[in-house]
Amino acid sequence: MKHKHIYIPNTKLGNCVYLAPDKEEPYAKGLFRCKCGVEFTTRYNLIISRKTKSCGCLKIEKLRARTGKVIKPITPELEAAIIADVKLNELSMRNIVEKHGVSVGRVGKIKNKYYANS
Ligand SMILES: [Zn+2]
Repeated sequence: MKHKHIYIPNTKLGNCVYLAPDKEEPYAKGLFRCKCGVEFTTRYNLIISRKTKSCGCLKIEKLRARTGKVIKPITPELEAAIIADVKLNELSMRNIVEKHGVSVGRVGKIKNKYYANS
């Protein structure tokens, strides 16, 4: 039996605000708004158990506090610029990483997302 979740949109759930059920997996996932204003999709159980406390900004913030490392947030504009370079296929991975100042792992993630959607 599928467990049915009934949450009220625009109310607080865990550390975030619940906005709407996910279109593909409405009983497992929902759209949430982080304290920083970013909207993201995650599983209800992660939010309720507070394993997920933010869109990812808290993790970045903590890492920065611990290591002094500044991690650039990937904005839609930055993602588009990286995808444009990936599509051009003229720059090596290292060049892309250096040009945009993001890690290899994050460029890889963006690349995978791009190829998964195309
Ligand atoms: Zn956030």
